[in-house]
Amino acid sequence: MRSVQLTTSLSQLTKFGLVNAYLVRENDGLTLVDTAMNAAGELIDEARRLGAPIRRIALTHGHGDHVGSLDQLCERLGREGVSVLMPAIDQRILDGEHDAFPGRKRGSWPKLATRPDVLLEPGQRVGSLEVIPAPGHTPGQVAYLDTREGSLIAGDAFTTFGRLEVPSHATLRFPFAAMATWDRRQALRSAIALRALEPALLAVGHGRALSAPAAAMDAAIRRAQPGA
Ligand SMILES: [Zn+2]
Repeated sequence: MRSVQLTTSLSQLTKFGLVNAYLVRENDGLTLVDTAMNAAGELIDEARRLGAPIRRIALTHGHGDHVGSLDQLCERLGREGVSVLMPAIDQRILDGEHDAFPGRKRGSWPKLATRPDVLLEPGQRVGSLEVIPAPGHTPGQVAYLDTREGSLIAGDAFTTFGRLEVPSHATLRFPFAAMATWDRRQALRSAIALRALEPALLAVGHGRALSAPAAAMDAAIRRAQPGA
């Protein structure tokens, strides 16, 4: 697992060169955002290297490549002192309520043994992170804005393989996020809303992080417009 320290409080961990998880430093320990897959041991080792315990596991959305290590992590860490936070709508889909959300089920929705402690709604806080609605890729996807430094952990609302893109349209370099996207128009609306937050740094589920991402976000949004 590759580890990059992005800011004093944010580390990016990359599994298989393909999928990212993030460790966010707080006063009481670490918040892990997303879990990649088959990565529990490596994520725990990385937290140990940072010298702080994982206190919270917060998910951006319910797809298998983001929640795939959750059960293993809970087994290894125990549930005492570790809370699991999942977007409320994506938890309903993980629970099998696909029919509540019109449109085709896309992406992988694994069966999880872990029950979240907190069902996240937009506007809630997770330590220093504000929960920002980012539906489209999945019905319940959320992004996390670090209110201390303006870093935005955007899940699959954007990808940066090759260049920054909104996964509302498949690109040659990394078509998978777009293929797994539930509602492409909604994904574009969320991309526009996230851009309006003026993040200082954009950290995504797939690909490298970008600092000062405004121009690249504008260009990605332009390319994602219907008929562009
Ligand atoms: Zn996804």
